[in-house]
Amino acid sequence: MRGAALVSVCLSLSLHSRVSGSSSNKQSDPLTQSPTFIMKASQSSPLAGPTTVQPGRIRILKQVSKPSGQNPGPVVYWMFRDQRLRDNWALIHAVDQANKANVPVAVAFNLFDRFKGAGARQLGFMLRGLKQLQRSIEDFLHIPFFLFQGEVQETIPKFLADCGASLLVTDFSPLREIRKYKEEICQAVSESVSVHEVDAHNVVPIWEASNKLEYSAKTVRGKINRLLPEYLIEFPKLQPPKRRWDSLAPFIDWDKLIEDNLRKGGEVPEIEWCEPGETAAEDVLMGSRNGFLTKRLRNYATERNNPLKPEALSGLSPYLHFGQISAQRCALEARKVRKLCPEAADAFLEELVVRRELADNFCHYQPHYDSLQGAWEWARKTLMDHALDKREHIYTREQLEKAHTADPLWNASQLEMVHFGKMHGFMRMYWAKKILEWTSGPEEALATAIYLNDKYEIDGRDPNGYVGCMWSICGVHDQGWKERQVFGKIRYMNLAGCKRKFNVDGYIAYVKRRIGATKKRKAENSSSKKEAELPE
Ligand SMILES: Cc1cc2nc3c(=O)[nH]c(=O)nc-3n(C[C@H](O)[C@H](O)[C@H](O)COP(=O)(O)OP(=O)(O)OC[C@H]3O[C@@H](n4cnc5c(N)ncnc54)[C@H](O)[C@@H]3O)c2cc1C
Repeated sequence: MRGAALVSVCLSLSLHSRVSGSSSNKQSDPLTQSPTFIMKASQSSPLAGPTTVQPGRIRILKQVSKPSGQNPGPVVYWMFRDQRLRDNWALIHAVDQANKANVPVAVAFNLFDRFKGAGARQLGFMLRGLKQLQRSIEDFLHIPFFLFQGEVQETIPKFLADCGASLLVTDFSPLREIRKYKEEICQAVSESVSVHEVDAHNVVPIWEASNKLEYSAKTVRGKINRLLPEYLIEFPKLQPPKRRWDSLAPFIDWDKLIEDNLRKGGEVPEIEWCEPGETAAEDVLMGSRNGFLTKRLRNYATERNNPLKPEALSGLSPYLHFGQISAQRCALEARKVRKLCPEAADAFLEELVVRRELADNFCHYQPHYDSLQGAWEWARKTLMDHALDKREHIYTREQLEKAHTADPLWNASQLEMVHFGKMHGFMRMYWAKKILEWTSGPEEALATAIYLNDKYEIDGRDPNGYVGCMWSICGVHDQGWKERQVFGKIRYMNLAGCKRKFNVDGYIAYVKRRIGATKKRKAENSSSKKEAELPE
């Protein structure tokens, strides 16, 4: 009991320190500008006490104002961003709170209607991963998995009311749509339901790493590194909950669901080379045949900027985006093998932790994370100063989408993305910067880059994508460079620079070969007709 009280006090103190001096505090949500409630855990709630999850990982979005008496209802974890069973702090917290209150716990997933325009490529990957997750979560943990379709601000409150839940746990996403849904859910649920948000995506919880918009990797690196001893720790073993849910979750016809969604999003077909799910993700990280840390890490130091060597990169972004692997797990394992190739491991950790979490910081604290308004003043000014500069080429969105430009290198990168759903990281910078050069102004350039990135990248619709486009086109997290036409002081990239770095013709030929081989395979397998509709 003393231990329990102690952790409860720690939880209170940690939250208290963020809201400076009051037991319940209204803060302005930087995205929606509407009030967010972040509260101290109340001793009166049976569901606000000790947890194995570090208190700093948890934000209390809503605290019960009317405890439901001696018999609290179950705990529900609304899973959105962290779609995995292993190494998931939100799931750990949900089970922990359920066990403490001796109540059952369920996982609920809401399938949006093509969230942010997702196509078959993204929906297929996600649903196939969820199908595996449902099986493992029910088989290994005996936690029921409920799938809803429709408006999440209606489905989740209704489910909570139907099962008489006391606590909703959810994972963290800085995307504005999700933040708005969470606010609506907090308003819609009954007064006897608390809502906890757990940052299960970042190694250092976003609000702990920094309480403000960071200027660059340089300003956030030290803050993150200082907190790694506290947060980059092993995960506790997740045990099945003590109390079982008293009914089975309704049957989910995954095959039909997948088929329906593939049909709806058929314009951008699935990819073949990247197997979805937690097991596949672990294999990409540490598999004995071709795992990144087991077999490929060494090349990361020397070859990661060579688009002809995509295997030098980890290939983890699809899994990280859908939460099918935890970044913390990747970082823990990378640290274990660091002594074998320290330079490569450090470079990987810089991208995985510092750059990735900087992207979340930007989207969390900058309401205009995907528009010119979100750029720093110097960048907006220089872009507007050069908005009317004469462009050598201006292409329409359609021409760009179809890779119909006069630059074979750019076309190859566009086709790599369209056909394979993952453009090489180095090419993404060149690709976005050329869009700035070839459209009528920076706003159009940014909108086009985000549109294409979100539509075709398997890892798109992600803070990394918004920040990648903002970095390339609007200089976010970068500095001013020598002023030139169109770009102003935004960092410039050109073909000559690429030729100095890698074999440009080799990359163009490589993309062509890959597309040819895929087409041939697909033609042999007549069941797939969609690929022929993609830009050639
Ligand atoms: C214009 C543009 C658009 C981009 N769009 C996306 C996107 O939609 N989704 C996405 O996940 N990344 C995006 N990135 C960032 C980066 O290019 C990809 O994360 C990386 O290429 C993914 O491949 P990987 O996992 O094999 O990379 P690795 O080099 O192996 O990196 C490992 C992980 O570190 C993180 N990471 C790597 N580079 C960056 C970076 N520059 N910024 C933030 N995190 C990084 C990613 O989570 C990545 O999975 C974009 C970058 C640019 C310039």
